[in-house]
Amino acid sequence: MPGFELFGELEKTQVQEVLDTGVLMRYGFDGMRKGRWKAFELEKALEKRLQVEHAQVVSSGTAALSVALASAGVGSGDEVIMPTFTFVASFEAILAIGAVPVLVDVDDTLTLDPQAVKNAITEKTKVVMPVHMCGSMADLDALLAICQEHGLLLLEDACQAIGGTYHGKPLGSYGDLGCFSFDYVKTITCGEGGAMVTNNPEFYKNSDHYSDHGHDHQGKDRGAEGHPFLGYNYRISELNAAVGLAQISRLDEFLAIQKRNYTILREALASIPEVTFRRVPNGGEESYAFLNFFLPNELLAKKAHRALNDAGIDGCFYWFDNNWHYYRKWDHLKNLTALGNLSKEIQDQFRDYNSTDFSSSDHWVGRNISCLIKLGWETESIYERAETMATVIKGLISN
Ligand SMILES: *Cc1c(COP(=O)(O)O)cnc(C)c1O
Repeated sequence: MPGFELFGELEKTQVQEVLDTGVLMRYGFDGMRKGRWKAFELEKALEKRLQVEHAQVVSSGTAALSVALASAGVGSGDEVIMPTFTFVASFEAILAIGAVPVLVDVDDTLTLDPQAVKNAITEKTKVVMPVHMCGSMADLDALLAICQEHGLLLLEDACQAIGGTYHGKPLGSYGDLGCFSFDYVKTITCGEGGAMVTNNPEFYKNSDHYSDHGHDHQGKDRGAEGHPFLGYNYRISELNAAVGLAQISRLDEFLAIQKRNYTILREALASIPEVTFRRVPNGGEESYAFLNFFLPNELLAKKAHRALNDAGIDGCFYWFDNNWHYYRKWDHLKNLTALGNLSKEIQDQFRDYNSTDFSSSDHWVGRNISCLIKLGWETESIYERAETMATVIKGLISN
């Protein structure tokens, strides 16, 4: 997955163009910048590649999620349905705008279970936020049908799945809103950065203003611009955007490498009858950022994770025990441990996740191992890696 592995001349050239003018800010300074607008160009490149009308580039993927929610008018006391298996950024972005995260089970897609989503809907629900974890997607048709029936927005967190598709459409472009991260370890990186995409002109206009202190971006004098509503600062710098501009031009090259490397590992593991793979919804194609597979039970998964590590296979994750990606270790969230007071709405509406039954999530995540697919692997070493992985897992199962 990490685009930083292939950081090279293209990235340096893009950054140098910014350094040559010294205009590090994405807005204004028209005279000094010699026609260089890296953030704007990155937005155009994303719109084209992701087949959407609008992209708003911001300072991080977490910022993109907050901006997306705020742009759609989501605020205090509104409930946002999110999965038990995701990065902590999901609930951070929701809480940041005063909304209430509602945790819901995942299924064998390792993303939101549509039936569990249905069960969690209340009159306060505004958004369903699937997270396309580890390179593959939620059942978007089923979620879209639920959203349409209940008048909810569909926000796709595609931070870990750029380049994946669903019925031929890029992930992130299917819902009302889609979000991407370009942090240092994502498939394409800006160093730090993110983007929100949408086909809704109102949401886009809101995101453009909101992410820059409410600036309406009318006219040529920033100081004289209007502020139709309250905003915040989620701007990206031109230096970061320049790196992203180089990387987006290499996305298809990166995806082809991911697919090749993924396929070699998968074919080796597919020869083991006890190993099964994560379900990819009909019509979906993964981004191949990770290879995700299930062992027959939790104990074997734990053992396999340890044995793979011991055999020198790096980059394989057992999310079930991970501090950052699974609800079991989110004590700070479950106890609402914050530096200051949280709003009354959040305190009143937040559910008791210390006693909620997430055994369906545990059933799948507890048996799952996710292996990061790297871009820089030598071809020879991938075959070796595949063979070692298969040998290690076969050894465990036959014992
Ligand atoms: C990385 C990530 C984010 C947050 O992105 P940052 O750019 O690191 O803020 C959000 N959601 C998911 C699923 C991620 O993997």
